[in-house]
Amino acid sequence: MPTRYDLDRDALAGVLDGEPRYRVDQVWDGLYRQLAEPGGLTTLPKALRARLDNELPTALAPVAEAADRRGDTVKWLFSLADGARVETVLMHYRDRTTVCVSSQAGCAMGCGFCATGQAGFERQLSTGEIVEQVVRAAQRARDDGRRLGNVVFMGMGEPMANYDRVWAAVQRLHTDLGISARHLTISTVGLVPGIRRLATEDLPVNLAVSLHAANDDLRNELVPINKRYPLSVLMAACADYLRAKGRRLSFEWALIDGTNDRPSDARELAELARTLPLPAHVNLIPLNPTPGYPTRGTPRDGVDRFRHWLADLGVNATIRRNRGTDIDAACGQLAARVELRGRAPG
Ligand code: SAH
Ligand code: SF4
Repeated sequence: MPTRYDLDRDALAGVLDGEPRYRVDQVWDGLYRQLAEPGGLTTLPKALRARLDNELPTALAPVAEAADRRGDTVKWLFSLADGARVETVLMHYRDRTTVCVSSQAGCAMGCGFCATGQAGFERQLSTGEIVEQVVRAAQRARDDGRRLGNVVFMGMGEPMANYDRVWAAVQRLHTDLGISARHLTISTVGLVPGIRRLATEDLPVNLAVSLHAANDDLRNELVPINKRYPLSVLMAACADYLRAKGRRLSFEWALIDGTNDRPSDARELAELARTLPLPAHVNLIPLNPTPGYPTRGTPRDGVDRFRHWLADLGVNATIRRNRGTDIDAACGQLAARVELRGRAPG
């Protein structure tokens, strides 16, 4: 059954069949501009409100919610109608508010260092299940006196393996929630057909590629899909993307102690970056510990050192603040532990 944010305007008009035409705009505006519950739309007759509460069911039921001490990071574990679970993380920074959303329940890509990869694939999320994560985060941001301005597809799942629904969600976020395409970022493990397709879209969203290794032997180990789309093929797609879009591309690099944080790794990364027609930007994230992966993240001084090496090699890199590690809230990490530690909402 389609959920509240799965419906497009035509489908909503179907639900509102028999009502005056302007009701479609009223309800659409209520859902996307006011971020309201249908039952709270006081411009509608009471009977209609009650009917809509029934016929436009929400997709997500909060199972657990955890916030860091200052309330700068909020992480939700949601249950979907069929019991599948996904995570969403809201992050308030000094100058912006960002939500990290899931695109699939689980992930089939099998990256060993990733908690979602360790758990395996459950199912695709629908467009509405993705959009509702953003709506809920936007509601919370508003309650916190902030405006949600950025969305990153860096939660559970591989967005390019659920392309159509993710793209429909992107369009909805852009057109109806008013989030600028330049503030939307899709992160991919390197599914080349998805990158090539993204290059043909007209909304200028940002692309992040999770690289983690700049030689095929190591990348095959860390990111198994590299065997299907090796670095030469991936880089060719990235180069074409840059030529088509002229937009900045970023690489994600989770620093794993003694594995991809050596001087040779920095050198290989710099060489790879030099093959691109535009400079790439590297985001360094110290690996978060997960239950199924023994190696720890690079310690703080090693992270700083790696960034310096890159800078000396002419590669721009920033160290991504590891938000909310005290609540296991970092993006891209399904922390099963939230179930144990998070308190139930309400
Ligand atoms: N599947 C997509 C998007 C979700 S993962 C992708 O892989 O890009 C979002 C980011 O979190 C990716 O860069 C991923 O490599 C990273 N990540 C996964 N597990 C991590 C961990 N344990 N510590 C740090 N980053 C991690
Ligand atoms: Fe999937 Fe991304 Fe995790 Fe790899 S890192 S298993 S692609 S979610």
